[in-house]
Amino acid sequence: MPVVYDLVVIGGGINGCGIARDATGRGLKVLLCEMNDLASGTSSWSTKLIHGGLRYLEHYEFRLVREALMEREVLWKIAPHIIRPLRFVLPHQTNARPAWLLRLGLFLYDNIGGRKLLPGTRTLDLRRDSAGRVLAAGVATKGFEYSDCSVDDARLVVLNARDAANRGAEILTRSAVVGASRSGDHWNVDIQHREDGAAGPTKTVHAKTLINATGPWVGSVLGDLACGGPKAKVRLVQGSHIVVPRLYEHDRAYMLQNHDGRIIFTIPYEDKFTLIGTTDHDYTGDPSKVKATDAEIRYLCDAVSGCFVKPVTRESVVWSYSGVRPLYDDGATAAQEATRDYVVELDAPNGAAPLLSIFGGKITTYRRLAEAALQHLEPYLPVAAGLDAGWTAHAPLPGGDHSIEAQAGLADALIKDWPFLSPMEAQRLAGTYGTNARDILGGARERHDLGFAFGAGLSEREVVYLFNNEWAQTGDDILWRRTKLGLHMTRNEAAGLATWLEDYRKTQAPGSASSTTAAARLGL
Ligand code: FAD
Repeated sequence: MPVVYDLVVIGGGINGCGIARDATGRGLKVLLCEMNDLASGTSSWSTKLIHGGLRYLEHYEFRLVREALMEREVLWKIAPHIIRPLRFVLPHQTNARPAWLLRLGLFLYDNIGGRKLLPGTRTLDLRRDSAGRVLAAGVATKGFEYSDCSVDDARLVVLNARDAANRGAEILTRSAVVGASRSGDHWNVDIQHREDGAAGPTKTVHAKTLINATGPWVGSVLGDLACGGPKAKVRLVQGSHIVVPRLYEHDRAYMLQNHDGRIIFTIPYEDKFTLIGTTDHDYTGDPSKVKATDAEIRYLCDAVSGCFVKPVTRESVVWSYSGVRPLYDDGATAAQEATRDYVVELDAPNGAAPLLSIFGGKITTYRRLAEAALQHLEPYLPVAAGLDAGWTAHAPLPGGDHSIEAQAGLADALIKDWPFLSPMEAQRLAGTYGTNARDILGGARERHDLGFAFGAGLSEREVVYLFNNEWAQTGDDILWRRTKLGLHMTRNEAAGLATWLEDYRKTQAPGSASSTTAAARLGL
């Protein structure tokens, strides 16, 4: 008898991985297929905020804002290593939204989302506060400060996949769904393995239900396949960011109102940098080819330059990235007005095997989206009785099995047990892996025991850990998604890592004579 999965999820972004985790924890047999690396789509190109979205209040998205505000503290508790509270300075700029509107918005923001841990809003005298000193003359003399959180978006995806796998899900990366057809009450799903972009062998699996969580590809992936696509429409909206050397010394972010009414964030990023974004405009090309355009980079530089003492020039941009929001097309005229809420569409004509398609959503609301998706599928699935449908709100993600308060002491505890670590190295490991940093460091007694040093603090032990535990295969997987060390490494160091991984992968190939490898040598 061939295996019949309860659920095949197409797409290894935050929504696919969140659904896979939730479903597996409820006792379902789950397979997830991602055509590239996990989080290689929109989920690693966000502004990296776990936020209610103050701006969405203007569009009366009260349901979404309330749910997202509530999720901030839920997610912070289950992943205190990769989610951090962040204070935002909102200057009251003349010729922008009036102070009473900002105050009203912030009052709602503080009070509709069950806030318990994050501090509330306060008023700032920007003539005296250090946040005002870095602003250009005439920008604002007063303002407000409020709370949201920042997140390592790509790591949130991978940790959901890791937890799903720990609970029994099968996670296939570099595996594209290239065909799907209904056969009575189940699906036949064709999966093609892809190594370094080249098409490999295809195999067919069977599933009771199919989930299309392909983000920007939601409208095309199944449309291209025999079974036909979803009926709802997706609106692809491009958003770009730039990264520049740190614009100011303090650790708060700014929410700035540009002269065109748009909001621009400046966020302290990776110690040495400031992240600036974002733009908002319709996109019609191939989502995998999206790139920050010169016009967008200029727009972001101009928007911020006028606000700070330190100008932001095209030459100061060290990195830029772009993503495509897969929004539900609600017919809004402007891209920035299209709803950010999620919509799930169920298609199960005359008792045929169901297909669930996901539109829109935020990183912030992925957990609630997963719950909504599974609620829609409940009539078709053998969900074990007595299971808590909200279990993902309480179960820590891998490495996050400690309290919010304990996170601050993790780095010191690492230095105590591995005294050769510098404070910066320990901070990075604690803030990336939480309690799992100990698995990486293992029995190392001195730096030499961590194996080859690739640069920017990346050791062979960490690389092998990521290969074995987090589906990392290439230099980009490690430097831009499992970590952001790509920002800190030289080109030569990055090339050295890519070559090393290519060789390492060969030794790991099935049937390879030498699968002893670094993993065994390093005791991983
Ligand atoms: P994706 O992450 O794109 O995942 C879909 C996956 O499906 C991809 O990895 C793709 O490779 C895979 N796939 C496609 N076709 C196939 C196939 N045939 N077989 C197998 N796999 C396939 N949200 C927030 O909460 N906070 C923010 O600060 C924030 N900022 C944002 C800023 C920008 C500029 C953008 C663009 C979005 C932002 N968002 C933010 C929204 C958030 O990033 C997205 O809503 C979310 O990442 C969408 O996740 P997803 O899983 O639906 O899609």
